[in-house]
Amino acid sequence: MLDRSSNAPDLPPEIARRRTFAIISHPDAGKTTLTEKFLLYGGAIQMAGQVRAKGEARRTRSDFMKMEQDRGISVSASAMSFDFGAHRFNLVDTPGHSDFSEDTYRTLTAVDAAIMVIDGAKGVESQTQKLFEVCRLRDLPILTFCNKMDRESRDTFDIIDEIQENLAIDVTPASWPIGMGRDFLGCYDLLRDRLELMDRADRNKIAESIRIDGLDDPKLAEHIPEAQLEQLKEEIEMARELLPTLDPQAVLDGTMTPIWFGSAINSFGVKELMDGIATYGPEPQPQSAEPRQIAPDEKKVAGFVFKVQANMDPKHRDRVAFLRMASGHFKRGMKLTHVRSKKPMAISNPVLFLASDRELAEEAWAGDIIGIPNHGQLRIGDTLTEGEALRVTGIPSFAPELLQGVRAGDPMKAKHLEKALMQFAEEGAAKVFKPMIGSGFIVGVVGALQFEVLASRIELEYGLPVRFEPSQFTSARWVHGPKAEVDKFTNVNKGHIATDNDGDTVYLTRLQWDIDRVERDYPELKLSATKEMM
Ligand code: GDP
Repeated sequence: MLDRSSNAPDLPPEIARRRTFAIISHPDAGKTTLTEKFLLYGGAIQMAGQVRAKGEARRTRSDFMKMEQDRGISVSASAMSFDFGAHRFNLVDTPGHSDFSEDTYRTLTAVDAAIMVIDGAKGVESQTQKLFEVCRLRDLPILTFCNKMDRESRDTFDIIDEIQENLAIDVTPASWPIGMGRDFLGCYDLLRDRLELMDRADRNKIAESIRIDGLDDPKLAEHIPEAQLEQLKEEIEMARELLPTLDPQAVLDGTMTPIWFGSAINSFGVKELMDGIATYGPEPQPQSAEPRQIAPDEKKVAGFVFKVQANMDPKHRDRVAFLRMASGHFKRGMKLTHVRSKKPMAISNPVLFLASDRELAEEAWAGDIIGIPNHGQLRIGDTLTEGEALRVTGIPSFAPELLQGVRAGDPMKAKHLEKALMQFAEEGAAKVFKPMIGSGFIVGVVGALQFEVLASRIELEYGLPVRFEPSQFTSARWVHGPKAEVDKFTNVNKGHIATDNDGDTVYLTRLQWDIDRVERDYPELKLSATKEMM
């Protein structure tokens, strides 16, 4: 368990002003639209899609978007930084497709909070629920935005009830919607006693905000028709009676979520949400690591790789490793220790995905995300420090739930295929297993769509048509235990043994029964469904 209180009051101001978060939502709820509005209020910015590795021609954002469009899904986790008032926001984008992937999990290891966006007409949908559960595993604070209030939506109490019940979290209204659908006027800001009125004529306009002296203020009647005002007063009275009031510590503990209502497309409610992130969102948090936790205000720099993006330009084989800064004040050109290899690495071209023309990150603080162009030295889960042998923990690698064999369309190209597969394994896009017996590879993924994505990327980026085909195996488990025992086990089960791209031993099987049997027959062995990346 992390000690969240340890960094609370006395962080250096540069660190204390940072808010690093991700948006979780079901496809179509409005994540993209909300992100755009964040950027609008945060000033112009650049996205990770513009990242330029050394020597590469500059890619424009639209090129990058085209690439994503061609692939049909968002394959990158972009990181975006922008200022909002006195705060620096770092927004880490979770992969946009509906299929489930480890990327999403790992993205959530790099943030301190999540914004949960739900569609006011649909409530908590399946993908939201899944992502929420991941956030809960880490006790991430969650702020909720109920979007599309300009459309017919559900009753406000129903929405709140549904979140409380399905997600088992206390919900406290930060604002209260006035009407809905065509009659939606705006919100009453319960935290600051203001009336926020939506302007339907200008979608990019920030809502008019009127100071109100409590619900009995006659000013309300100037802006809200009588029937709606009566309803608003009744609802707020009920809400104040039935729903918990905002407890900032409970929000930080992840047991309570404040909810704002709005319409991202009309820029409505977005600024209030951003104020909420600034006020109630957590500062950069301590990071769990071995042999000790890393506090954000430590003088020395430490950070970890949570994402590797390869082939941002198909003509080059460069990769960008996304590093979450866990502590210290990083300056460009610093020499850091790559803990896994114990080798020094000069970080001379770090990229910050930031406003202004500056692409190189001259500096970064705990909480920031920087991109480090490299040729494959940096892998997911790697820790960089100023020398201390710390290893950030908690970045999982999951046992794939779906396995398929893969073959190059042209058998002469098997070597090329191996290279492509290794690259995707490194990116964390798939698990690649080389069986002990026989030729070929088995690829494992968490969601079925990933096979298609892989096939199209291998073709696009390596010019290599491939075929996925059914495998006799359905599960993979990493084998841990004393070496002699592992050797004994692998020798008698050769047909089921493979190595993953890190060279670790994996047991492939079709039946849970097999797994149970191995655990019974080899009590010293442990078969695990996850392995921490290291
Ligand atoms: P994402 O899949 O979560 O990224 O969702 P998008 O931001 O792409 O939005 C999905 C659709 O909902 C798009 O057609 C948006 O224009 C629309 N949309 C987003 N926000 C709102 C809103 O506040 N009101 C209405 N009526 N439509 C919205």
